[in-house]
Amino acid sequence: MPWWWVLLVLGRGPVVTTLPEVPVAGAFVTVVVRVEGQGSSVKGEMGGEPLHFELGADSTWRALGGVPVAAEDSVEVRLVTRDGERVDSSSHWIRLAATDPPVERLRVDPRYSRPLSKALQARVERELDSARAVGRRSHATPRLDDGGFTLPVESRVTSPYGVRREYNGELRSRHLGTDLAGTKGTPVRAPARGVVALIGRFYYAGNVVYLDHGRGLTTGYLHLSSVSVAVGDTVERGGLVGRIGATGRVTGPHLHWVARYGVVPLDAMTMVSGER
Ligand SMILES: [Zn+2]
Repeated sequence: MPWWWVLLVLGRGPVVTTLPEVPVAGAFVTVVVRVEGQGSSVKGEMGGEPLHFELGADSTWRALGGVPVAAEDSVEVRLVTRDGERVDSSSHWIRLAATDPPVERLRVDPRYSRPLSKALQARVERELDSARAVGRRSHATPRLDDGGFTLPVESRVTSPYGVRREYNGELRSRHLGTDLAGTKGTPVRAPARGVVALIGRFYYAGNVVYLDHGRGLTTGYLHLSSVSVAVGDTVERGGLVGRIGATGRVTGPHLHWVARYGVVPLDAMTMVSGER
């Protein structure tokens, strides 16, 4: 084939970028798609989760997405773009910035670091499944937030998302939430508009509330001393969700804040302060 054929083909396909341009694993991103002739629809997925594109004022298609924490140097975005009769499938690789998360060594009540009994293991799995189900269902919820995202507690981060953890020198895991400092009873507020999707009393997480903000975005509030909402309530940004506590597996009162895109746990702080 002639050399210019390659340019012709490249010129026709959608152009995909992200905000930030070179994200880290675990980050929320905005996927930006430019389609020649604008296109009549854009569908796609990233990290195994569907994307929900909206046509922006600048004629680009934009969707919230997330880079799974286990992604290494790139993540794939798959697209199906439609322009009239013409349908295009394409695959795009987003380059990731390198990270080297530190190791944190914690001492907790020994009953939490011993292997779990079968019954407890089953309970923990059920609880994780119910939180993931909230994430999965969120893809069918229309977008409720306005794009702004604030901290649930105005305090410092005591343990960031992504650190590697050791409990009593044994159990190792990644910290897939953000710990925010606070004394028992400190109000926990919704970072954005959402619907209360789940309330529970979990083995590791203690008293929990999960909010569904729609279009795949959910957040969770763990170890609460009290819960101020009921399932089905709509909470506005800044609305009271509950109060900081030390229920579940904790070394003291704090808020463990979780954010997911679909079932993928991501760094909530990249929703607050990230370039997206
Ligand atoms: Zn935590």
